[in-house]
Amino acid sequence: MNNRRPERVVVIGAGVVGTSTALALAERGLEVILIERNGEAAHETSQANGGGLTPAHSEPWNAPGLLGKLVRNLGRADAPYRLSPLALPGMGLWGLRFLANMRRERFLENARNNIRLGLYSLECLRRWRERYGMEYHQTLSGSMQVYFSRELMAEAVQFRRELLAGAAPIQPLGVDEVIDREPALAPVRPELAGAIAFPEHESGDARRFSQAAAELAVSKGATLMFGANVEAIRTDGGRLRSVATDHGEIEADACVIAAGPAAARLARPLGLRLPIYPVRGYSATFEIERGDALPTLPMLDTASRFVTLRLGERGLRIAGLADFAGDSRRIVPRRVECLLAGARRLLPELSSELVAERAELWAGLRPVTPDGLPLLGETRVPGVFVNAGHGPMGWTMACGSADLLAAQIVGSPAAIELTTFDPQR
Ligand SMILES: Cc1cc2nc3c(=O)[nH]c(=O)nc-3n(C[C@H](O)[C@H](O)[C@H](O)COP(=O)(O)OP(=O)(O)OC[C@H]3O[C@@H](n4cnc5c(N)ncnc54)[C@H](O)[C@@H]3O)c2cc1C
Repeated sequence: MNNRRPERVVVIGAGVVGTSTALALAERGLEVILIERNGEAAHETSQANGGGLTPAHSEPWNAPGLLGKLVRNLGRADAPYRLSPLALPGMGLWGLRFLANMRRERFLENARNNIRLGLYSLECLRRWRERYGMEYHQTLSGSMQVYFSRELMAEAVQFRRELLAGAAPIQPLGVDEVIDREPALAPVRPELAGAIAFPEHESGDARRFSQAAAELAVSKGATLMFGANVEAIRTDGGRLRSVATDHGEIEADACVIAAGPAAARLARPLGLRLPIYPVRGYSATFEIERGDALPTLPMLDTASRFVTLRLGERGLRIAGLADFAGDSRRIVPRRVECLLAGARRLLPELSSELVAERAELWAGLRPVTPDGLPLLGETRVPGVFVNAGHGPMGWTMACGSADLLAAQIVGSPAAIELTTFDPQR
C-alpha cells in the first residue's frame, strides 16, 4: 500500500474474524463497510463452534505422529481425525506442505507463534469486554483437559510445560481435585486419571460475540451490507480499486479478505494463492432438562477429542471431530454418533439426553493452513489484505488478529511482528 492512511475499508466476511476486524478498524476512525453473503453475522464456521478461548491449546494439528493416526484411521467413521480417501487428490500441494510442517522443530515453532497470538488475542478480547460490557454467555473460570490414561496425562504435562515455557500457567490435577472443580464428572471417577487445568482460558458463544462485535462496529460508524455476495475484487494499475458484489460495486482504499474457508477462492483471480483447506467439524447443542447435572467448566476430552461447552442455564454443546473430506458441510450421521458416544461416556448421567434426535446439529469448515498459522497482513496486491486461515482456533485468535491487522492498515506499530503470518510466506 502507499503510505497514505486509507479512508474507506471493505471487510469481506462477517464471521468472528471479519466482525472483529470491522470493530478494530472502526475504532481507529476508518470508514468501514462489512460485507456478508448471509443475512446475519456468524452464519458459517463461527456459528456453533466449541466456544473455547484457549491460547495454550493453539498448537497446529500437524503434530509429529498425526500422519500415522490418519493412515491407521483411513476411512474409519469412529476416529476423531478422519481422512477420506476420495479427498486425497484435491489436497495436492496443500497436503505436501501440511506433511512438511509435521517436523518437530517446525511444529514447535509454529505452535509457539500461535500461542503468542492467542494470548495477545485474549488480552484484546478482555479489553473489549471491559470497554463495551460485551455479553456472550462467557465463562471466565478456565478450562480442563481430561485424561483417562495416567501415562498419556504424564506425557501431556511434560509436553505442555515444554511448549508453553511459562507463557501460560497449567495445573495438573489429581482425580479428587478434578471432581471438586467439576462435580459433573463424579460418575466417571473410577476411570479418570486426572486433568490439566488452564486457569487463564475462557469460553462463550462465538456467534453472540460476533454479532455483538458487528453491532459495536456499527455504533462506531461502520456500515453492514448483509445478504450481499462478493463476486470479485477489482484492481486498477496493479492496486485495489473496488469490491464488486451482486448489489453493486464499492470503491475502497483497502479491503480485507476475512472470508474464512472461502478466502482462497476470492483471492485466486488476483493471482494470490492462499493455502487454505476446509476441514469439517461438528457440534451438537442441547437444551438439558436437568440443569444441575450440566458441567460448568469447558472441557476437552482427550480420549475422544471433543469439547464440552456450557451455554447459559441449560445449554450444552459438544463439538469436535475433523473430517478431511473437501468442501462439503454435510452432516454425516455416523460422525455425529461418534461425537455423541464420546459425550455419553464422559457424562453418563446425561446419556439419555445426549442423543442426535434431541440435538441441534451443525457442521462447519475450519479454514486450515498447512503450517497451522493464520494468514495475516497485506498481500503483494497493494490495498488487498488477508485475515483468514485460523483453522481450529479462529475465535481464540480473532481479536488479536483484528488488532494487529488494523494497526498495519493505519500504519501504527503492531504489538506482534506480522511477518510470521505473512499471507504469502
Ligand atoms: C467443530 C468446530 C469447533 C471449533 N471450536 C473452536 C473453539 O473452541 N475455539 C476456537 O477458537 N475456534 C474453534 N473453531 C474454529 C473457528 O470456529 C474458526 O476458526 C472461525 O470460526 C473462523 O472464522 P472466520 O471468520 O475466519 O470464518 P467464518 O466464520 O466462516 O466467516 C467467514 C464469512 O465470510 C463470508 N463469505 C465468504 N465468502 C463470501 C463472499 N464471496 N461474499 C460475502 N461473504 C462471504 C461467509 O459467509 C462467512 O460468514 C471450531 C471450528 C469447528 C468447525
